[in-house]
Amino acid sequence: MATDARAGATGVAAGLAGAVLTVDLDALQSNYRLISERLTGGATAAAVVKADAYGIGIGPAARALWAAGARDFFVAHPAEGIALRDHLADARIHVLGGAPAGAEEAFLEHGLIPALNCLGDVERWRAFCARVGKPLPCVLHVDTGMCRLGLDRREYARVAADPSLLDGVNIETVMSHLASADEDSSQNAEQLAHFREIRKHLAMGRASFANSSGVFLGPDYHFDLARPGVALYGVNPTPGRLNPTAQVVRLQAKILQVRDVDSPETVGYGATHRIAGPSRIATLPVGYADGYLRSLSNRATAYIGDFEVPLVGRVSMDLITIDVTGVPEAQCRPGAAVDLIGPRHTVDDLAAQAGTIGYEILTSLGRRYHRAYVGGNA
Ligand SMILES: *Cc1c(COP(=O)(O)O)cnc(C)c1O
Repeated sequence: MATDARAGATGVAAGLAGAVLTVDLDALQSNYRLISERLTGGATAAAVVKADAYGIGIGPAARALWAAGARDFFVAHPAEGIALRDHLADARIHVLGGAPAGAEEAFLEHGLIPALNCLGDVERWRAFCARVGKPLPCVLHVDTGMCRLGLDRREYARVAADPSLLDGVNIETVMSHLASADEDSSQNAEQLAHFREIRKHLAMGRASFANSSGVFLGPDYHFDLARPGVALYGVNPTPGRLNPTAQVVRLQAKILQVRDVDSPETVGYGATHRIAGPSRIATLPVGYADGYLRSLSNRATAYIGDFEVPLVGRVSMDLITIDVTGVPEAQCRPGAAVDLIGPRHTVDDLAAQAGTIGYEILTSLGRRYHRAYVGGNA
């Protein structure tokens, strides 16, 4: 197993790709450390690496996080857990979606720890533990306000009244999940009170409550194990306040062609942008097939050096067009780099322009980019 992350590249060769996605593994590690240092009372930080580590690449991300000290990892689906095991032989790998019926053997084989999300899950895991003759590790997930996964109030009342329902499994962690941690909402305190009540009756193992934003709600929310995801990857866990994390991704496209327009003309599908006066339009080889969302049509901006330039017309499958009229010609010739996500234009900025959240921008990052991983040694 690699215990250090090495810089490297994956995907399409840089010179042959439409754009280069640079992933700063040093920034990823410093975000992990920042969150770890925020935690109080001996709490530790897991790393949530579901969805290919939020789109940045599970292998390099997981190795860098391990090197930074993470030992607990969370994924959504069993297949993600199996893939992660190839990168980290010794990590505790938790599967939030749990073990589907019939997948228990695979959990044992790959050392995956399922979240038990209802009493039926508990029952099946118990039966499997009895079959293999030992109480295997698991996470007991109790719902406190998502109405999604986790024991509901009735199920929780049943186990509180009859704890023997949990005999025969090894509950290493009792977890719940915040619904509004990124907002100043009274729901946070309500869920916290509910989770504390739950811990009175289910006091076994570690308590795990906070996601990224939950960490920043303060010490009351920390418990034993935090589960940050998005903040590791540089998305602001404290919307409306300064982003405490370092940027992890940069997306740069190279100009394919520049066109001088001196008569009135329209740009792109549906002719949604009209050029009135003399202008220069640059075309970039990135489109919605790369996860550059179509909702960015006529709304996004990008940067050429210090110049902010508007995206004009619709985002098409493989191309976008930007108005570079205000940029010195020497800086916007074919081959010049344009920051679609960069130091001056964060994932959160682009998300706001698309009318979405940073999570969706990251997890949409395309497969056609050349991916360059830099840094990442502990
Ligand atoms: C995705 C997820 C997390 C991580 O959330 P972030 O907001 O990305 O920090 C934590 N816990 C659960 C249950 C999740 O589904």
